[in-house]
Amino acid sequence: MAKPLPVYPVASASGATITLADGRELTDGMASWWCAIHGYNVPELNAAISAQTSKMSHVMFGGFTHEPAVELGKRLVSITPEGLNKVFLADSGSVSVEVAMKMAVQYQHARGERGRGKLLTFRGGYHGDTTGPMSVCDPETGMHGLFNGFLPVHHFAGRPPGGFNVPLDKEYLKELAATFRLHAHECAAFICEPVVQGAGGMHFYNPGYLRAVKDLCKEYGLLLIFDEIATGFGRTGMMFAAEHAGFTPDIMCLGKALTGGYMTLAATLCTDEVAEVISQGEARVLMHGPTFMANPLACAVAVASIDLLLKSPWQERITQLSKNLSLHLRAAAQMDAVKEVRVLGGIGVVETHQAVDVAKIQAFFVKRGVWIRPFGTRIYLMPPYILSESETRKLCSAILEWVA
Ligand code: PMP
Repeated sequence: MAKPLPVYPVASASGATITLADGRELTDGMASWWCAIHGYNVPELNAAISAQTSKMSHVMFGGFTHEPAVELGKRLVSITPEGLNKVFLADSGSVSVEVAMKMAVQYQHARGERGRGKLLTFRGGYHGDTTGPMSVCDPETGMHGLFNGFLPVHHFAGRPPGGFNVPLDKEYLKELAATFRLHAHECAAFICEPVVQGAGGMHFYNPGYLRAVKDLCKEYGLLLIFDEIATGFGRTGMMFAAEHAGFTPDIMCLGKALTGGYMTLAATLCTDEVAEVISQGEARVLMHGPTFMANPLACAVAVASIDLLLKSPWQERITQLSKNLSLHLRAAAQMDAVKEVRVLGGIGVVETHQAVDVAKIQAFFVKRGVWIRPFGTRIYLMPPYILSESETRKLCSAILEWVA
């Protein structure tokens, strides 16, 4: 662009440290947009990629299958909530959301429900930057205005009230039911980020709202899609955020941490029922087949990343990270510039009253040897799980110094 924000050339990264080309070292608070959960330059993941490269880097996934994809499929079925037995491998988070939407539409079509071409979702969400996902991002902070006339128009329910432990709001539940009453007959599915709305505001909400959505979906014949691209693989303290709600959605999207941040890969999982209904439909197959579907390098590193995660004390690590974030961010809550401090699992958020100047705050953080990239009024941490207490303290201190 004509006036880009400053960028910092990176030479290498290892553990939770990113080294700039000029030799400066930064403690990473972002896990590279939340995917490098094991940190960088991880021996097990390096080895998995190298080994796979010498076998084959890629073959088409039409008419062929291969061990890395099969092994990944087995692991995903075994670690995700009971009943998600079918796996589609896609190239990025946004594409996996496109696939989930198409699954829902094909499912309704196959059942003879032709008038259900829309989606229902919460306000405040974020599901990706390609057209389908963009159309279910928050209508105000998303890009609906800019792409008005181009994006399909879907239906929105209010954002669930904030607070993971805050009791359910009966008025809100009534509004939610009213939105379903009004629009559900036109909708194939309800899509949402369970428990944490990420890029739409780092907003945490009570999983009880998901149970309400599930009941409404059942009543009105909608499928329920959980976008766990940001929340999957332990980030909220459970392996998947769906576990906080205690039930299995019909469709689930995974990405980001799937490969430990090594390569782009995503997955859309669904229940046997969804797959069987689609298979009985006119098309008989899911109408999606990307060139790099199930890329063997990406699948091999995803298998290694899941094995490494399962072998690690990930739950204790997240619990400890959560405690450290709460402890070291707590003082920010008293500061005038701060609206709220909140922590859930491996996510720490300091919400300010005023939006930050990204170039200015970025330079400030780099000077203090940390990598934190806020957006709007959200200064947040979503670091690698391997972060030590002193590294966590360093990240939090830099934030406190900024907001003080
Ligand atoms: N859904 C959610 C919840 C996300 O957080 C993101 C990425 N921030 C996406 C979808 C899109 O994923 P990708 O950037 O890999 O396309």
